[in-house]
This record gives sequence, structure tokens and C-alpha cells, in this order.
Amino acid sequence: MSGMSDDRVRVRLTVKGRVQGVGFRPTIYNYAQSLLLSGWVSNSPEGALIEIEGPRQVVEGCITSLPQHLPPQAVLNSLEQTELPPVGYEGFEIRSSQEEGETQALIPPDLATCEDCLGELKDPRDRRHGYPFINCTNCGPRFTIIQKVPYDRPRTTMAPFKMCPECQREYDDPRDRRFHAQPDACPICGPKVWLEDHKGKLESEDPISEARRLLAQGKILALKSLGGFHLACDANNEQAVSELRRRKRRPSKPFAVMMSSLDVVEQHCFLAPHQRDLLTSWARPIVLLAKKEEILGRGIAPGISNLGVMLPYTPLHQLLFEGPERFHALVMTSGNRQDEPICRTNEDARRALPDIADVFLFHDREIHSRCDDSIARVFEGTIQILRRARGYVPNPVPLALSGPCVLATGPELKNTFCLTRRDEAYLSQYIGDLNDQGTLEFYQEALERMKRVLDVEPKVLAYDLHPDYLATRYAQGFPELLKIGVQHHHAHIASVMAEHHLEGPVIGVSFDGTGYGTDGQIWGGEFLLAEEGRFERLGHLAYLPMPGGEAAILEPWRMAVAYMQLSGFPVEECRNLLPGIGEESLKIVFRLAETRFNSPLTSSAGRLFDAAAALLGFQGQITYEGQAACELEALAESGDGGEPYPFARVGEKPFELDFRSLFREMVDDLRRGEGKGTVAGKFHATLTRAIVDACAGLSRTLDLKTVALSGGVFQNRILLGSVRQKLLDMGLNPLSNQAVPVNDGGISLGQAWVALKWWEERQRG
Ligand SMILES: [Zn+2]
Ligand SMILES: [Zn+2]
Repeated sequence: MSGMSDDRVRVRLTVKGRVQGVGFRPTIYNYAQSLLLSGWVSNSPEGALIEIEGPRQVVEGCITSLPQHLPPQAVLNSLEQTELPPVGYEGFEIRSSQEEGETQALIPPDLATCEDCLGELKDPRDRRHGYPFINCTNCGPRFTIIQKVPYDRPRTTMAPFKMCPECQREYDDPRDRRFHAQPDACPICGPKVWLEDHKGKLESEDPISEARRLLAQGKILALKSLGGFHLACDANNEQAVSELRRRKRRPSKPFAVMMSSLDVVEQHCFLAPHQRDLLTSWARPIVLLAKKEEILGRGIAPGISNLGVMLPYTPLHQLLFEGPERFHALVMTSGNRQDEPICRTNEDARRALPDIADVFLFHDREIHSRCDDSIARVFEGTIQILRRARGYVPNPVPLALSGPCVLATGPELKNTFCLTRRDEAYLSQYIGDLNDQGTLEFYQEALERMKRVLDVEPKVLAYDLHPDYLATRYAQGFPELLKIGVQHHHAHIASVMAEHHLEGPVIGVSFDGTGYGTDGQIWGGEFLLAEEGRFERLGHLAYLPMPGGEAAILEPWRMAVAYMQLSGFPVEECRNLLPGIGEESLKIVFRLAETRFNSPLTSSAGRLFDAAAALLGFQGQITYEGQAACELEALAESGDGGEPYPFARVGEKPFELDFRSLFREMVDDLRRGEGKGTVAGKFHATLTRAIVDACAGLSRTLDLKTVALSGGVFQNRILLGSVRQKLLDMGLNPLSNQAVPVNDGGISLGQAWVALKWWEERQRG
């Protein structure tokens, strides 16, 4: 245009990433205005488009420092720029959404309450003072209320709430923190809370104060949170905690605790900077921390050295910690009946929790997708997610390959499924153990909802080889689709390859409780060679019988008997070392191990831990997966380590690791009265040496340096830490899971990745 100086430019920016539903457009609007640039910003199906026009230097400066001027929740995946001739825009504007084209924009996960909203929540002069649903473009519910894309209020469970004029004004004003904040609401127009007991609604001016008062009396409260119901009680009230255990039929599995502030967390737990960051991150997961001492009721996390702690992440939680009661810590455990999914609707809670909760704190904002609390920890400075749900879903895991939409149906325990969209893998929220009707319904519901939110339809299916798993049978229900079975332990290793963009070949060490092997046996202590989508079994723990099959998983002492029988001890010796077990039971199980009757073979590392834990005192039934191993780890932490016991390596291709000599010497130590902490430490040292020696040998013969470590056994910090360190010392490159759980919760990612590789190979012919 004439009259414009030569150094004027117009640049179009194509922005991809998480830039919708996070206040991106108003932030850009304000930023451009502050630099006196003209142009516009708009949403697009793949993210956002920006055009800026002005003096070259200012425009270039604006682009360079753009990444530092994004709203806190935005994630910038790519920024393409095209220079165009100036057109003489006047001023800067926000343009309405362009809806055509394929949906690629990322939906944000649920976000913890931001500082600005917290300030307003506590400000008596603010119109949202004490309002339990305060939120803005930087915080609040997202994934759990979204029904469809694009993300807009009518497609969320906020649709029934018509905004009042004041909220509407904020929503429409590009300079406001609530501009296009879809869940925006206030006490006039938004959701409300109320209390109910078993007889019906409790009339109360202030239901939240009343709830606090009841908690202070030791009552058990069911409250509707972000992704489902919580059961809460005062964590300092030992009687309330044990009553909750009794009613929930959860004798020993640790409870998560919500603490009012970081200061309180620090009084109870050791807290390093990375752990502090994780606790206060937008995702607000439950973070596993080492307990300082038992200040809280002893019933919170019996037998283990960690405590699962989180900070309040909704305004409703925040308000429970206000008021005269001054709670420091509340137990916050999933609101469900044993083995059922977390309650989602008020009706669910009324049906499932009447004999667990004394009183219910309900609200009328519907939860569309249920989502449990996530669990994470910091290990050697990096974050490891152990249960991936609220705050992380639906963030994708970026892949190094692309292909058709794959649905990986996941494992049986700790199930998640995975959907791929081009080069991104979307894991579902944690579904749980897929072995009853309620969980299966949750699975199907979550799958339908995730497909809608991602706007995908699977073309390829991946499933576990176990013919009886519900997830496997689900996959078999689609005869028209391409599908591939993926071995359980291979999927573990593939999940590491997917996360770290490895093609292989890598050495895979896959140690866990149970997985169906290609020979029909129960695998679980596997050394694999994994390359592209294939694997070879290089070695494994020697097979041994599981006396009574499934019963041996519930009763770890059965495995101790099997190891002792196999190591040449008579039944009398078992009696000495397992005083908690009845004479008759011992004889029967010993006989089962001897005759191999009703005793399937397993190479499971989980069962090896169980056997050791039983000899060291765990002689009851486990009440949650991995319980005996967790307590064994805590025992080892209490000791001062020690030298490994002997073990043998036999055979080739695959080689087997034989731990009978370990048990012989362990028994000798115990007979001599050696401390249990020391014995547990020596047991860990033995496993470490066995893994490291095997990897060293394989590394030499195969000329490989990368070792992928995965499977639930690697949740054990002592084992993972010492194996990693020793492999690093030998110049190898050990990698494990971070973004997805190292346990079975990460299996679906590995399945999906193998399916994409397989599809790629088919394409090549
Ligand atoms: Zn906010
Ligand atoms: Zn309003």
C-alpha cells in the first residue's frame, strides 16, 4: 500500500499445540496491543492462526519472544511463519473460530485452581468469595466436562447453566481473565452444593461449613470432586480412619491424604524441590513421599515407608481446609465400592456408598468423564507417573511414527486403553482391574467418549495374548478390523521404546507379576530382544510351580513353600520359617509343589518377591496387588544392604536364572538370626546382580548398549535405582518409563506402538 514505510511487514503464524481452552487468544490480543501491532488471532482446527502487522523490528521481536508470553496452560508444539505483503490492518482483533477441517487441537486436562482464582475465593469483597466452582481460562475443569469437540460451552456439562449478565460480560471481554472460559460461573448462575444424609437433603445455609463440622466429629464424607467422588475423613482421627477402612473393606491398602499446604506436607514428609514442583503442578497428582515419622494416624499407610500426598486442587477442596476446624490433613480416597469404578453421578454415590459414607456433599455440575486422581513420584530427579488419570489425560504421548488410528485394548489389571491419532498416542484415564461388569461398562463408556473427544475411529486393533482377558475378548468382537496380538512383556518393553523414540534393537528387562506367554505359561521375569515391532525371548527366571494357581498370588507363603521344596528343604523347615501358617495347609501346599498338581508354571519375578516376603514375615493374604513386595522393599530400606546371595544361570536361548541357592542361603541367614532388614537387602542385591550380569552378557554378545527396564517390579525404588546405576557404570544406557506407568497401566501404549510398527511393515509389503 502506498504511504507505508518500506520496513512494514505482515507475518502469518500457524500455531499448533494446546492453544484452545487455555486463554490463548486474549493473551495474544493483549500482547500484540501492548506492542501497538495490528492484525488478528483466531482458533483453527489444528490450533490457532495469528497475523501481525507493523514495523519489521517490532514484528520480529514479537515472534521471538512469543513463547515467553503464552498463557500458563498453553503448549506450543510448532510455530510456522509466512511473510506476506502488508494490508494495512487497523488495530488488533480476535476473530471467531474456523470450524472446518480435521480436528487436531489438543484438549486440556483438568487444571488445579490458579492463584488469581484462589485470591478471589478468599476475598470477602469479591463476588465469588467462597464460591466452590470459581475458575477462569487458566484453571478449572476441562477433560471431565467436555462431551464433544470443538471445546465450547454447549458441548460441556456447563451447558444447562445460563450465564448471568455479569458472567456473560466477562466471557465476552477479550481483556478479561474469563474470556471464553467455558466453565465460567458465579453464585448467581452457576452450580451449587448441598448436603444429604441417608434420609435426604439437609437444610443448611452453608453446606460446606456443615460438612467441615461433621468431618471434625469424625464422620465420613462422600464428596463430589472433579473426576468423581472422594471419601474423606479427618486424617488425624485414628478412629475415623479405621472406621473408613472397615466400611470400605480395605484393610491395609494405603490411603491418599490431602494436606492443606506445602508447610504441612513438609512437617510429615521429606520434600525435595522436584517433589515440591510436582505437588504444586497444574496436574496436582498424588505424590509418593517418604514419611518423616508417624504423626498422622497409623492406619493411613501401614507397613510401608511412603505416604501418598496431594494438595487441594478444586475450590471446593480449598474451602474444606478453611474455617475454624483448621484441618491439616484429610484422607481422600476414591469414592467407590471395592472393585467398582469411582462413582461419577450423585445417583451412583447414593447407590454405592450408603453404608460407607455418613453424609454426602453433592453438586449439580455433571462429571462427563470420570477420572481418578493420578499418582506420581520423583525418582532420581525425574517424574514417573504410576497411575495416569486426572491432570494428565488427555495429554498425548508424542510418537516417532504415524499411521492409521489404532485402538490398543490394554491389559487386565490396572487397565488403560490407548488410541492413536497420527503420531500421537492418547492413553485413557486409569480404568482399573477389568474383571467385573461395572469396570467393563466404565471401559466402554470411556472408549466411546475418548473417540468422540479425539474425533477418531479405530482402523487397527491391538490386544493382549491372554484369551480370557475381557479387553482381549472386546477386541475379538470386531472381526472386520485388522488386529494383532501383542505379548504382555513385549508390550512393556515397547512402551519404553515408544516413549523414548527407539527403533531397537534393545535389550528389554520385563519384570512383573503375570503375563500370558507365547508358550502358554505364565511369564513375568523376562529378558527380551526387541526390535521394531518384534521380539525374541533371550532368557527368563526358571519356571517353578505356583501351588494352587491363583491362590498363590493371594497367599505369598505358597510361593515360599514352592521355593523351599524346590531347594531341597523338608516340610518341617517350612514350618519353622512360616510359623503363621497352619500345619495342614503347609503340608497340602508342599505336596502340591512336589507333585505339580494344580500348580501352573511361572517365571514371574513378582512371585519371587512374594516368596522372599513370606519368609521374612508376610504370612497373611495380600489385600492389594504388590503388597508383599512393597513391604519387603520397606524392610530392605530399614536394613543396611549387604552382599548378594548366589544364584545360577543355566541353559542358552533362552537362558534361565535359578534362585534355589538364594533361598538356601537366605534360610541359613534366618536360622542364624540375621536381621530381617539385612536379609531383605541381600535379596534385593541378588536380584540386582542377576539383572545386571545378564544385561552385561547380552550387551557383549549382541553388541547392544540400550536396556529398557519395565514392568511393575521396577516400581521398586531400590531395584530400579541400583540396576540403573550399575548399568550406567558399565557404559550401558538404561531407560525406563516416565510419561506412562511402568506397571500395567502403560501396557496399552506398547501395544499401540507395536501395532503401528506392524502396520508400517505391512505397507512396505
Ligand atoms: Zn483461575
Ligand atoms: Zn454468573
